[in-house]
Amino acid sequence: MKQFAVIGNPIAHSKSPEIHSDFAKQFGIDLQYTKELVAIDDFSHFAKNFFQYASGANVTVPFKEDALQFADKLSEEAKLAGAVNTLSKKQGNIIGDNTDGIGLVRDIRDNHQQSFRNKRILIIGAGGAARGVILPIAKEKPDAIYLVNRSPEKAQKLVEQFCQYAPMTALTFSELNQSFDIIINATSASLSGQSLPLSDKIFTLESFAYDMMYQAMPTAFMTFARKHHATAVDGLGMLVEQAAKSFEIWHGVKPDTRSVIEKIRRQL
Ligand code: NDP
Repeated sequence: MKQFAVIGNPIAHSKSPEIHSDFAKQFGIDLQYTKELVAIDDFSHFAKNFFQYASGANVTVPFKEDALQFADKLSEEAKLAGAVNTLSKKQGNIIGDNTDGIGLVRDIRDNHQQSFRNKRILIIGAGGAARGVILPIAKEKPDAIYLVNRSPEKAQKLVEQFCQYAPMTALTFSELNQSFDIIINATSASLSGQSLPLSDKIFTLESFAYDMMYQAMPTAFMTFARKHHATAVDGLGMLVEQAAKSFEIWHGVKPDTRSVIEKIRRQL
């Protein structure tokens, strides 16, 4: 039986084993997918042993950069994201991919039917999650991508890195006096229930607001967006879609995600 795992610290909360086993059932694939709690300084030692017998691994906080170093070869997405969330053993090599950005695009574009093409996109945040989604969004041919971050120099750095892929501009929170079509919260502010210093001018009736975080109740960002008449959703679909892309990389088949999103939603 092929072996897979999600590697992180902490890891108890992870829904990845359940998601991958639901996907596997759709195709009658027999696999074992475990949660692996690894000490902070032990990633490469653990991964080396694991890949003696395993076929693939998902990698989560805080090991996505360790996984980038560990891989023998990297996809373009992983290289530009500076992070790997999917490792696969292929012909003796370990290949590193990043499926987070594709997961976000598929959730917004396919599940929520919001096209990025010719749209004005605002990404709030300039951490690892923001960095990982810029290239997949740029490939959808938006009109422009704007980045705003609490520490403005980090947004500026990402603009310099990605401006060859799409028209990009870094803004400060006080410069947010225009509206956007798609607004993505890629900060960790919602994790601590904090609100962002956002102007209500960024939303119109047609705006689509997406919080990468997910929880049972609407996040502070979603509540603010809805108060200003925008449509707002959370990032549970992104979680399931990034898992689906990893599954595709490992098994060569694309699982149905809708039923799995609904199931995990009921359990939140
Ligand atoms: P990082 O720690 O790399 O970055 C955090 C970002 O949030 C930085 O831009 C930081 O700004 C900003 N930030 C934090 N607190 C505040 C605040 N109070 N006000 C304004 N800005 C703030 O985290 P990640 O990029 O890895 O993760 C970001 C979010 O994305 C998390 O909520 C995570 O759960 C979610 N995520 C969801 C996924 C999914 O599948 N749904 C996948 C990956 C991530 P500064 O630079 O100034 O510190």
